[in-house]
Amino acid sequence: MENEIYDLIILGSGPAGVSAAIYAERYNLKSIMVGEIFGGTVMYPHKITNFTSYPEISGIELINNMKKHIEAINYTVIEDQIVKVEKLKDIFNVYLRNGKVLNSQNILIALGTFRRKLNAKGEDKFIGKGVHYCAICDAVFYKDKNTIVVGSGDGASMAVLLLAPIAKHVYQIIRKDELKTAPDTIEKLEKLNNYTLIKNNEIVEIQGDKFVNRVILKENFNGQKEIEMDGVFIEIGGAPNSAIINDLQVAVDSQGFIKVDNFLKTNVEGVWAAGDITNINGDFKQIINACSQGAVAAYDIYNKSQKSNVPHTNFTLER
Ligand SMILES: Cc1cc2nc3c(=O)[nH]c(=O)nc-3n(C[C@H](O)[C@H](O)[C@H](O)COP(=O)(O)OP(=O)(O)OC[C@H]3O[C@@H](n4cnc5c(N)ncnc54)[C@H](O)[C@@H]3O)c2cc1C
Repeated sequence: MENEIYDLIILGSGPAGVSAAIYAERYNLKSIMVGEIFGGTVMYPHKITNFTSYPEISGIELINNMKKHIEAINYTVIEDQIVKVEKLKDIFNVYLRNGKVLNSQNILIALGTFRRKLNAKGEDKFIGKGVHYCAICDAVFYKDKNTIVVGSGDGASMAVLLLAPIAKHVYQIIRKDELKTAPDTIEKLEKLNNYTLIKNNEIVEIQGDKFVNRVILKENFNGQKEIEMDGVFIEIGGAPNSAIINDLQVAVDSQGFIKVDNFLKTNVEGVWAAGDITNINGDFKQIINACSQGAVAAYDIYNKSQKSNVPHTNFTLER
């Protein structure tokens, strides 16, 4: 039996993908969403205070709300890993780890980012043994221990605020001489009494036995290059999750983020991208932006389908 051909396959089930799904359903596009982790990166923030209409909500709560919304509209989500995407004769083939291949006339890439590595000596050896990329997940293991957060952005500073009530001391190390953090967060950092900011410096090596026990710095700090350390939290942002779409030859910027126009269209016919994986808004990668981009992309895909007279089948539930 021949595979059915969707109007749209949404790759990724984070905020960008979920918003696109809500609008795709509204426009009666025959669509489906595939994502490995429903909610995506939203599982990391323990406290979100900047998503409109929620003065404060945890990442997990927000994901649960997204899930409820998707269930309320009976939208089909496949929870699986996409291993490859190719375009053959104007049809996209999306290969899943479970062996299934889905076909579509259009795709929306909403695959987000993965955590960037520091590439310091010893980093790989101690991953999970003192080297971490998610403070919300692992801060709890550092009660009364010495910790260091690498990075100057909001994510890094939030990690400091999370570690400070738990750890003995929290260092934050930045390459330049000032933080790239929102002013209200800087005020909170300045009030901490177990926090030290190390400027114009970087970690060149992470050492230990079974677990991390020291870091080696590039420049002297308090007269030495070595600091005793139990936990290293690397918070230097994300890199685009684009390996599986390399064959499509979608245009990217110098850092690999997908170039899109105002309607989230890429240079490749039938391919849109939304959320953290795009080059829109530079470093300002936020849930609200991802949601907006997913919605705009679905709207544009609908408009394009209208113009090309793609026959719209009724939406079917596949559970
Ligand atoms: C620590 C931290 C704290 C943050 N705090 C905030 C905050 O307070 N407020 C805020 O607005 N933003 C915050 N953000 C940013 C926010 O989480 C992102 O901007 C948002 O999640 C981006 O949504 P997205 O849908 O583009 O990508 P993601 O949320 O990253 O979702 C990507 C989706 O693609 C899927 N995927 C990737 N590769 C594959 C594959 N091969 N096969 C199948 N599925 C795949 C993933 O499983 C996931 O479903 C924070 C981020 C971090 C890391």
